[in-house]
Amino acid sequence: MVLYNSIIEGIPELLGQTAPKHYAYDPAQAWPDAGAFELVMLRDAAFELGGSGTQAVNFTCVTSSPKLVERDEIVVYGPDLQQLRGDHDYLRISILRVGDIESDDEDDTEQAFRAVQALDFVKYKVFPKGYMLRTSSDNDREQVRVSKAALQSGISFARVGASFIRQYRRDPNVLAAKVIFVTAPDADYAGARKCAKDVRNITLSLSQILKGMPTDCGSCSLKPICDEVEGMKELHFGRNKA
Ligand code: SF4
Repeated sequence: MVLYNSIIEGIPELLGQTAPKHYAYDPAQAWPDAGAFELVMLRDAAFELGGSGTQAVNFTCVTSSPKLVERDEIVVYGPDLQQLRGDHDYLRISILRVGDIESDDEDDTEQAFRAVQALDFVKYKVFPKGYMLRTSSDNDREQVRVSKAALQSGISFARVGASFIRQYRRDPNVLAAKVIFVTAPDADYAGARKCAKDVRNITLSLSQILKGMPTDCGSCSLKPICDEVEGMKELHFGRNKA
């Protein structure tokens, strides 16, 4: 799976100059899960990541390169939850290393698409207690309301990240997961929104190819994406050979 590699390689440019903090994944550190969507009332909230018109961006990339995701880890750029005061800009990026979920075989290509989609949907299955996620697949926003009680109990990005990784690792396709949280003031949130859009376009193109498309690149509406994304043309023509 190389389709998202160029986006992953560009992620360091989005993160600003703050020295990051790295946390190894420990499933025992996952924050308690509410088991289902839990409403945090405004009066119980300490602040919102992405509230009051601040940025709230999220995207997930999949790769098979061990160089791009060496191990399970959580990385934090900028102030952690305990240091934040008031609503704040926020970006979460998940990068997932998968095994061989892509090949020239038609069924395998479909399986690759389903796997990528399922991994993006993990965000709808993680319910950290006192950390109310509101996500939108249409505009790549992920707004989070953090409760005062969760802060008092010691919630942190390392622990919320462990909750995400625990959920990703339940999928047998996932070999390693890196979850990056960003609140740094100098991060490039507009650039991150563009990346999120590019990720969505790649996944949509994959879906279009699976529906069956003509193979005349000259008249294909996906040509601008295929010209930029390594592996997309090979995937389409491989599928038609199958
Ligand atoms: S390879 Fe890309 S540009 Fe060419 S026909 Fe297929 S989807 Fe369209």
